[in-house]
Amino acid sequence: MSKETLAKSIREIPDFPIPGILFYDVTTLFKDPARLQELSDTLYEMYKDKGITKVVGIESRGFIMGPILATRLGAGFIPIRKPGKLPAETIEESYDKEYGKDTIQIHKDALNENDVVLLHDDLLATGGTMEAACKLVQKMNPKKIYVNFIIELKELHGIDLFNKDIDVQSVLSL
Ligand code: 5GP
Repeated sequence: MSKETLAKSIREIPDFPIPGILFYDVTTLFKDPARLQELSDTLYEMYKDKGITKVVGIESRGFIMGPILATRLGAGFIPIRKPGKLPAETIEESYDKEYGKDTIQIHKDALNENDVVLLHDDLLATGGTMEAACKLVQKMNPKKIYVNFIIELKELHGIDLFNKDIDVQSVLSL
């Protein structure tokens, strides 16, 4: 199966969640067994030789492929969540959104300096969410950080927010 086929399985919803936004709906890719398998295989091939010890997924769409990939890589899975959801001691990072601020949290003991981390989310738009997630993970001094998206929206240039020492890759560029 080609990347074009994978891209075609993503449904575009105009005016969601607010007027003027074109939303890329990945649930149509996930519901198709062959395409879900293809995505899982593609992600595995991208990261199988990187020595990843922890996959870190961002709430909530990073919680779908994140654990699937962690299982295939023989890595652990760590959630980054919205405030008030994680039960133990957390550290947090706030970031600017189009309207107002948002905050994300991770358990304080989630990672250590021996970890090789793969941060995963479904989609890169402006990059604010993943930039904040990188800052959170960097506070725990892992050996290396890889960043992955299923989809990168190229025209928003979110990728420009990341330092050159962070390896950022997407399965699809739209
Ligand atoms: P950013 O912080 O890069 O502007 O936005 C990315 C975050 O918003 C991700 O967590 C992603 O799940 C969500 N997001 C923004 N736009 C879309 C979209 O069109 N489709 C999907 N599936 N998620 C989106």
